[in-house]
Amino acid sequence: MAILKLIQSTESHPTADWIYAKLKPKYPDLSLGTVYRNLKKFCECGKIKSIGVINGQEHFDANIYKHAHFICEECGIVEDIDSSFFSKEDLSDVSDKYGIDIRTADIVFNGSCKKCLAKGTHSDKTA
Ligand SMILES: [Zn+2]
Ligand SMILES: [Zn+2]
Repeated sequence: MAILKLIQSTESHPTADWIYAKLKPKYPDLSLGTVYRNLKKFCECGKIKSIGVINGQEHFDANIYKHAHFICEECGIVEDIDSSFFSKEDLSDVSDKYGIDIRTADIVFNGSCKKCLAKGTHSDKTA
């Protein structure tokens, strides 16, 4: 339960490692495997969702309502973009066109975040 609470208290789209590092001091018996198992369970029952693997680590989101994500290609930060780009009508248009049934659309934008832009290092990965 502490795991679920922690995810719901942050907007940072945490990874299992991040959650483990946060909870370990408080729960010395906690193992990374337990964190993974619980994350999987929460995903299955729809309490959280996985937003996929970014920079080699799976990120999780407690905001299960439809929203888009922005991922910075430089620092890997994940931000919520609070608007829907496809309406229900758009999705059913596409469904009709291809003879498929689209239920949701996960939209991910990639680029440089504010911080990285401010640093002005977006073409120089060594900085
Ligand atoms: Zn960035
Ligand atoms: Zn999100």
